[in-house]
Amino acid sequence: MSEATRIPELFGSLVFNERTMEQYVPQSAMDVWRGCLKSGQPLPLSAANEIADAMKTWALEHGATHFTHWFQPLSGVTAEKHDSFINNAGGGRVMMDFSGKELVRGEPDASSFPNGGLRATFEARGYSAWDPTAFAFIKDGSLCIPTVFCSYSGDALDKKTPLLRSMAAVDRAAVRVLKLFGDDAEKVTPQIGAEQEYFLIDRELYLKRMDLRLCGRALFGAKPPKGQELDDHYFGAFRPRVAAYMKELDEELWKLGVLSKTKHNEVAPGQHEMAPIYTDANTASDQNQLVMETMKKVAERHNLVCLLHEKPFAGVNGSGKHVNWSLSTDTGKNLFSPGKTPSQNAVFLLVLAAFIKGVDEYQELLRCSVAFAGNDHRLGAQEAPPAVISVFLGTELEGIIDAIVDENDYTAPEHKSLRIGVDVLPAIPQDTTDRNRTSPVAFTGNKFEFRMPGSSQSIAGPVTILNTIMAEELDEFYAQLKDAPDFTAALHKLIRDTFSAHRRIIFNGNGYEEAWIKEAEKRGLANLHNTAEALPTYILPKNIELLTRQGVYSKEEIFSRHEVHIEKYCKVIRIEAATLVDMVQHGILNAASEYEAALCNTIAAKRAAAPELTCHVESSLANAIGSLNEQLLEETIGLKTALETVSDDAEPEKLLRYYHDEVEKRTNDVRKTVDKLEVLTASKYWPYPTFCELLFSV
Ligand code: ADP
Ligand code: MG
Repeated sequence: MSEATRIPELFGSLVFNERTMEQYVPQSAMDVWRGCLKSGQPLPLSAANEIADAMKTWALEHGATHFTHWFQPLSGVTAEKHDSFINNAGGGRVMMDFSGKELVRGEPDASSFPNGGLRATFEARGYSAWDPTAFAFIKDGSLCIPTVFCSYSGDALDKKTPLLRSMAAVDRAAVRVLKLFGDDAEKVTPQIGAEQEYFLIDRELYLKRMDLRLCGRALFGAKPPKGQELDDHYFGAFRPRVAAYMKELDEELWKLGVLSKTKHNEVAPGQHEMAPIYTDANTASDQNQLVMETMKKVAERHNLVCLLHEKPFAGVNGSGKHVNWSLSTDTGKNLFSPGKTPSQNAVFLLVLAAFIKGVDEYQELLRCSVAFAGNDHRLGAQEAPPAVISVFLGTELEGIIDAIVDENDYTAPEHKSLRIGVDVLPAIPQDTTDRNRTSPVAFTGNKFEFRMPGSSQSIAGPVTILNTIMAEELDEFYAQLKDAPDFTAALHKLIRDTFSAHRRIIFNGNGYEEAWIKEAEKRGLANLHNTAEALPTYILPKNIELLTRQGVYSKEEIFSRHEVHIEKYCKVIRIEAATLVDMVQHGILNAASEYEAALCNTIAAKRAAAPELTCHVESSLANAIGSLNEQLLEETIGLKTALETVSDDAEPEKLLRYYHDEVEKRTNDVRKTVDKLEVLTASKYWPYPTFCELLFSV
């Protein structure tokens, strides 16, 4: 049997999915579990016990010795604490045990996870509870149970809880609106396909750079003579080491039930991408965490390191995570698919209008959902979408919207004018819509592609916001349509008015052009350049109203997140600055000075041996290095002082500004000087691998 024919068998072999559950769990417990999924009620203990027992049997058969509640705290990475199945059976014997109680609920200490003031210090307990809509899986010999994580008082301390709430909100809102069209869908689920970009570099080289190890990115490094100018890496053939890595990555992901589908080389040297087939938002979010973890783990086995940072190397492209998002019904319809019947198209135009209105009204919130230190290097940097949010629809769709707004004939000759809910839309070809890579939010035929998320971040945050704004606008539309005496007329007017009022957010041109930024400003669109500008808008009253009204966050949870995000930003900038100071002090100042001394020795030797020899090269190099090194010392002292003088009990938003305006700025200045020194210093004196070595050695 060839390896390839085994893939269907391999796929999901480490997941306790529905098919496997059917084999191991008694029918009666399966029925109870399915009922709970439908009603959203918690699982009764008796059924939980039966499922736990079945899970344990399956897990032991697959070599697992431990179990863990696997959750996603606000740190953005996953957390797990492993307990073994063993229990004392008396008489020096053990038995392997796992109860329903252990399955459905855990009590990890919450005090060491970010909580933004949500957890009173006297109550350190947190609760983790099984999310029965997500399947358990085996990773590194442990049965992992996907759970939500909350505080003693029930506040969400994780990223999964709000995501699930937002999925429920958009489900409720969309089903209600569909009913107005006579559609009997009972469930609407956001579907997500998250394309994941990453860098692979050699592990030996990686270990030589403290900045890569501590910060995940190179804090300095001159641009190599060759970057991505020749466009020879994008979609290029895989080098053998990369091919071997990708093969193993696919297999590991398939075992975990991740539908890894596409792999290719990306634009920058050393950069690659993996895209899975889309799935429901909750699964997609869990799986993207697993993808990131697996990418790193598999890399180690190949003596490689996988960098997920948004901007590991200045001068070449950074990495993003395109989040493809759509809404599908339990009857198999995609609401963002322009259909073939007038009624399908009416639904399509309505959800399109809702989406456009939502993005326009909550641009700042959407911007906040992708605002963190790593992504600041990307957004607005001529390679990723700009920091200004706009929606790309493509010329066909924009033509239709123009026709609706202006009540003109659309070009399709057979129609006098386009009456929504009566006429069929002219065909919208899917392939012409995907070409604008400069747009932050692009319609790509039957889904929106949100291109701002960074490669390292959890997709739960951005997806939560997309779901929530959609729920909000659909609720508003429902209120306006539900009692309309003439539904079609009301629908037409609503869609037209909405497109007309929110036309400003639609932009089909080149988002990298300076002219667009000016135009966007004229249109009154927000341009939140960086995290320091974005995060204060997170708690705008309209955002708090939206999130609380939709039941996605409580007010306390919003403020806690605001605080956690600010704190995280300040810490990252601080760690980067401190790391750079350390590397300058222990490596660079000394390397430059040794090289300078060597040059001076050469000059002295030359003069002694043959006074007529010129020493022009040596002396001009020594001069340049000497003065740059002095400048570096001064700038580094300045940076160090900036780190020492900060008062940590300052207002969070003041700290945010301080770290951005003072610390980050100074870090950048130091970097520039280091890069100049690197260019001048002879290779044998430079203590760190250069970008050329890092990017071109795998
Ligand atoms: P590219 O963006 O590279 O051209 P595609 O647009 O075909 O590639 O696919 C990108 C991602 O979008 C994949 O993860 C794919 O599964 C996902 N995707 C495709 N259709 C949908 C949909 N209706 N809803 C959500 N995601 C989707
Ligand atoms: Mg895409």
